[in-house]
Amino acid sequence: MVVDAEHGRMVMLEVVAVPVLTDNYVWLIHNGESGETAAVDPSVAEPVLDAVSARGWRLTQVLNTHWHPDHTGGNDGIKSAVGAPITAPAEAQRVSQVDRIVAEGDRVSVAAADVVVWDIPAHTAGHIAYYFEDEEMIFVGDTMFAMGCGRLFEGTAEQMYSNMQRIASLPGDVRIYCGHEYTLANARFAVHAEPQNAALAHRLAEVKELREQGKVTLPTTVAEERETNPFVRATNVQEFARLRSEKDSFRS
Ligand SMILES: [Zn+2]
Repeated sequence: MVVDAEHGRMVMLEVVAVPVLTDNYVWLIHNGESGETAAVDPSVAEPVLDAVSARGWRLTQVLNTHWHPDHTGGNDGIKSAVGAPITAPAEAQRVSQVDRIVAEGDRVSVAAADVVVWDIPAHTAGHIAYYFEDEEMIFVGDTMFAMGCGRLFEGTAEQMYSNMQRIASLPGDVRIYCGHEYTLANARFAVHAEPQNAALAHRLAEVKELREQGKVTLPTTVAEERETNPFVRATNVQEFARLRSEKDSFRS
């Protein structure tokens, strides 16, 4: 058990990254007291089940942020191996069985924590986030990345810009768990977009070093994104949309 010195309250949940495929992260959320473990966006089943059993944990729940196969591909395999129920937005039914469909404002119990669901469409039409208010963490799938944002496959710049603003309005300490290790490429684009931003230059150097050591650069925090994410820092939708299309063709 870990005591959070700043707030003096018990931190119940441990979060672990399982790197899979090229650059996906499956996040394991573990409650040491109840023994429950949730997997967020399992791209594949076996490496996730292995990571869980290597720690002596029990996989009890699957959460999806959106239907893309690199976020849901392991659902069925996990369900048939350990029977973990799947919570997901309605659109995930295109590719997977879903036990509980959730949308904006729904409350879900995840590893005994109380979680609220946000609708944050644009990367896909039914993309959601899971916000653990008491634990100060949010799982945003492919909507926000460290110093970046998701591509607009099924939505508009207006929608994505309001997602950025909504996430950035959370308390600065909130940790943001993203679906991919895109941090270094995003940092290079961000520095190109904001060459005068000293915090950003500093962060690029930090991230380079982490990646050279093969380390995970996530989670990020709301405070860090407010300082270094050009998509968050854009002052209006037009500026956001211009950055998003520049990024689509940017080669670092
Ligand atoms: Zn995706």
